[in-house]
Amino acid sequence: MIWYPYQQMKTMKQPYKIIDAEGVWMQTPERKMIDSVSSWWSVIHGYKHPVLNEAVKSQVDNFSHVMLGGLTHEPVQKLSDKLQEFLPGDLNYSFFSDSGSVAVEVALKMALQYYVNRGEMERIKVLSLTHAYHGDTFKTMEVGDDEDYHFILEAYGEKKDVIHVPTEIPALEAAFEKYHRELNCFIVEPLLQGAGGMRMYDISFLARARQLCDQYGVLLIFDEVATGFGRTGNRFVADLVQPDILVLGKALTGGYIGHAVTVANQKVYEGFYGDDPEKALMHGPTFMGNALACSVALKSIELFEQEDYMSKIQRIEEITRREMEGFADSRIREVRIMGGCVCVEVKDSGILKGFQQFAYERGVFSRPFLNCMYAMVPYIISEEELVKVLDTMKAWFL
Ligand SMILES: *Cc1c(COP(=O)(O)O)cnc(C)c1O
Repeated sequence: MIWYPYQQMKTMKQPYKIIDAEGVWMQTPERKMIDSVSSWWSVIHGYKHPVLNEAVKSQVDNFSHVMLGGLTHEPVQKLSDKLQEFLPGDLNYSFFSDSGSVAVEVALKMALQYYVNRGEMERIKVLSLTHAYHGDTFKTMEVGDDEDYHFILEAYGEKKDVIHVPTEIPALEAAFEKYHRELNCFIVEPLLQGAGGMRMYDISFLARARQLCDQYGVLLIFDEVATGFGRTGNRFVADLVQPDILVLGKALTGGYIGHAVTVANQKVYEGFYGDDPEKALMHGPTFMGNALACSVALKSIELFEQEDYMSKIQRIEEITRREMEGFADSRIREVRIMGGCVCVEVKDSGILKGFQQFAYERGVFSRPFLNCMYAMVPYIISEEELVKVLDTMKAWFL
């Protein structure tokens, strides 16, 4: 018996069964549908991509996995070299893990241990955003601000080591003013808060955060598990404002295999580097640097560069803006567009009840959540397919 995610198993409706997938299309026994959410925002090149399939196939004939404890291999070395070249500035040190949540845990552990290694024992607090989402493991839930996890608060009481601020500069300044001595890091989903409700905010907030972190000696962490690889219309938001630690996941492997990476800059790396074994980073997921994952991730990044994905994303944004222009309804609070993300926020989540089946019958897979009907399509989508997705969203309100 499968226990499905985020579902009350008793009342859950039967999931759609996928028997094949190619490009933006998924096939059920009865129909084809466009995956408008890219399998939780990861399948940026679409399904069954020949180059990515080949990357996995050729590696599997060599070896699928060896551990990174005391061993190394070419796929992980090549991927880490590629990331070093591909990522901005001195974000050069890649620590691999098997999922975004674990990679965020690693980032939070790095930030804490960085200060412990320096003997700054009072820096135990984390600053994060209201409506933040950073994963489903315990510390990431705590750093997050998702109502679905408030049972944790009921069980354990007040959060003591996490402070939440809204994406407003005065509130940020006040939080730094008050807590800076105790903070080890400020962690954010930059520009676009995904699972917290597709909330978009301005780069000036992050520029100010960078200044404050520098001023008070606090590490800045960008969780780009969702926003990385072009989703906001920037390759990485880290291209605009550079964090000390960058977390990538989801699209890292083009959605082929779960893998993630926590990338540290020179300063963070040096905080661990030395002769003292106690200052080493104490972490090591069994499947970190998995050879299949690294091979496919390398090819995914090469495709992203060679086929100029940034222009594809720009095109998606242009078509989306054109198609959504002037679209309004009394039940809609706001339509938000950023890069390869469009969100129609409705006034009441009840308004979206039944939309998934409505979309399915029109050949589109959608998965609304909270008050959000949204699309984050694979970047290889054609204009016609994208218009179909957007028309389906609009049709719900007609
Ligand atoms: C999805 C997500 C995560 C968690 O990644 P998993 O691979 O599901 O563990 C963390 N942070 C953000 C911003 C995400 O969108």
